[in-house]
Amino acid sequence: MDSAEYERKIAARFATFDQDGNGYIDREDFSAAAKAVLAEFGTTARSDKGQAVFAGAEAFWQGMAGIADVDGDQRVTREEFITGAAKRLRDNPQRFAEIARPFLHAVIAVADEDGRGPTPAAAVRVLCALGTPPELAGQVATALDGDGDGRIAEEEILSAFAGYCGVEAPDA
Ligand code: CA
Ligand code: CA
Repeated sequence: MDSAEYERKIAARFATFDQDGNGYIDREDFSAAAKAVLAEFGTTARSDKGQAVFAGAEAFWQGMAGIADVDGDQRVTREEFITGAAKRLRDNPQRFAEIARPFLHAVIAVADEDGRGPTPAAAVRVLCALGTPPELAGQVATALDGDGDGRIAEEEILSAFAGYCGVEAPDA
């Protein structure tokens, strides 16, 4: 990967986390993501599933801040993301994904409408609610159902997330 492609990928990852697009990642972005998913599935914030999504989003933010908020101002700037999070992601994407596990687990519970695991269609709804372009969301959801049984397992989602986040730097 050349450095231009690395920059482009890091920028895309940053934009994924910066849900409101104001140039930094903070708690608001994570609660916005939680709200968007709950709204998509008509789940109330007060329900058990809704509370789990918000708790997972908060834990995800705390994990992100612990890694990347170098100056402790409760905001992760693009520079902090590149120096802090990107390095950690590169060194250990699987461990980074563990930070997201409670959130992903709770989102899966919301998207799993019959208790047999989310369908690719439900995954598309989640991804679109989080700002993924529909065409890309469709490709990702299809890829997530690797064995084609029409259901997506939590471990598949977690490892896909780790893969998405793990961006190799040009000098790595
Ligand atoms: Ca933001
Ligand atoms: Ca900061």
